[in-house]
Amino acid sequence: MKGLFCKIKSLGIGKDYAVSLSLFFGGCFFFLFGNLSSAGAKTPIEKIRAVGDLNYPPYSFIDKNGKICGYNVDIAKAVFKEAELDYTLDLTHWQNCLRQFDTREADVIIRIGYSNNRLDEYAYSFASILVYYDFVLPDSSLIKTSKELQGKRIAVVKDYISEEYMQLHYLTEKVVLVADYKEGLAVLRRGEVDALICDRKTVEYYRRLHQTDKADLRAIPSNLPPFECAIATHLDQTELLAKLDAAYFRLKDKGVLDEIYNRWFGEFYYARQYQLLVYLFAFVAFICLVVFVFLFFLRRNIRIATKQLRDSQASLLQEKEKAVRADRLKSQFLANMSHEVRTPLNAIVGFSQLLVQEECAEVKEEYAELITTNTQLLLAIFGDILDLSKIESGVIDFASQHFDFALLFQSLEQTFQQGMKKEGVELLAIHPYETCVICADQQRLSQVITNLVMNAIKFTPQGRVEMGYRVKDQGIYGYVKDTGIGIQEASVEKLFDRFYKVDQFSQGTGLGLSICKAIMDSCHGEIGVESTYGDGSLFWFFYPCELETVS
Ligand code: ADP
Repeated sequence: MKGLFCKIKSLGIGKDYAVSLSLFFGGCFFFLFGNLSSAGAKTPIEKIRAVGDLNYPPYSFIDKNGKICGYNVDIAKAVFKEAELDYTLDLTHWQNCLRQFDTREADVIIRIGYSNNRLDEYAYSFASILVYYDFVLPDSSLIKTSKELQGKRIAVVKDYISEEYMQLHYLTEKVVLVADYKEGLAVLRRGEVDALICDRKTVEYYRRLHQTDKADLRAIPSNLPPFECAIATHLDQTELLAKLDAAYFRLKDKGVLDEIYNRWFGEFYYARQYQLLVYLFAFVAFICLVVFVFLFFLRRNIRIATKQLRDSQASLLQEKEKAVRADRLKSQFLANMSHEVRTPLNAIVGFSQLLVQEECAEVKEEYAELITTNTQLLLAIFGDILDLSKIESGVIDFASQHFDFALLFQSLEQTFQQGMKKEGVELLAIHPYETCVICADQQRLSQVITNLVMNAIKFTPQGRVEMGYRVKDQGIYGYVKDTGIGIQEASVEKLFDRFYKVDQFSQGTGLGLSICKAIMDSCHGEIGVESTYGDGSLFWFFYPCELETVS
């Protein structure tokens, strides 16, 4: 067998091929020889004892349930079963495996690396796998390539092929021998060595184990040549070896070996790729989600900001319109004022001058009367103007108090009756309740009623004026009805404007109804008029207030 290897090598074929071919021809040789020898009926195989490395995951190791497992364990079991062998399989420390094999306590080693040195002692079967070595370093190590490891401390498992390789290829490194990979990783993590030389698949296994914790290890490929590992028997167990090889080929044909390989390595690699894809997908999905959420909130904020902007624009426009209207009203008001004030003032100034020059006592008296009338008018205008502007500007607070409206109505009627100087005009008051206690501003209510009654009397040359009220919709509904001159339809809507008088020559400031409207607006009430020209008018108001006792 050794000679066969040497011959192939001497043909100049690459070392890896040489190993493979050697194993192939060696296997064939043992297969034929085994069959021939079995024909010669040597000692029958009764029971075999197989051993394997205890600390060589994922090839042979003890799982978390305490069971022996691994790729080599599965291959060995399948091969032993296919070969119909009665066997026991134990995993023990590698040095122990070798010792038990030496002392023939064990018949088979389920996995041992091929080396020329071992050919004198081991007969290799076809049940083999190609192995690559990597250097394992702590993730924090600054070393990037295997060249940088020259002269560094390297942990090597005693009696592994790597030990032979280190002597052959890396003489400059300081080799630290360890019992197994477990110890090798321990010294590496403690920083006692710079690297551990380790089977690539074992590195993958340990790194996978640490994925859930932290990947504290990193692997860099070594330039050590790959080598084959196979089930091995003693050199004189040719029959056993032949059986194992025959079983191995049968299993290969059935696809069992591939299935075992995929179970241990295929799935893992696919799973890793799949895992990477899942991570990538999750990352992309996360980024999409973040972008989506960002855009959602951005759109929402823009929508809110736009709405706020539109609202403030609309309110600004409203404010502007208000300001323009107020400015127009102010100008109008000032124009009206100057006109309204100038008329009586001119009369006062003019008649005062005439009064001085006039000698006739009767005419003088007439002038004096005119001056008095205009002075009173002027005073009334100022009084009304001040009253109106105070109400509109909210300077006057509405002082609500509890009082009996029925009593107030009666006393107002009496006052009007006493002041009635007009002949042919009758004042009628309707008193629907004996008591009507409400909470309202007595003075403002009186002012509205007085204005309406005074107007009705003023604009009724003959006939009747009726004043009345009733409780309605949580407030007081009051009215003043007359059979006076009435108001034309065109004038009705302007009645509550300031200084408006249907007849400019009629007595009054033209502010009375404006004051009534301002009072009603301030207390959220209403005021209105219905009138038929020539027949009379009905002025009404609704003053909302708290009603207490009505009987
Ligand atoms: P004034 O204080 O000058 O009476 P008002 O604002 O009270 O001013 O009234 C405005 C105008 O409305 C009056 O000049 C008059 O032309 C008209 N008016 C008010 N009340 C009546 C009424 N009862 N009948 C007819 N016209 C009225």
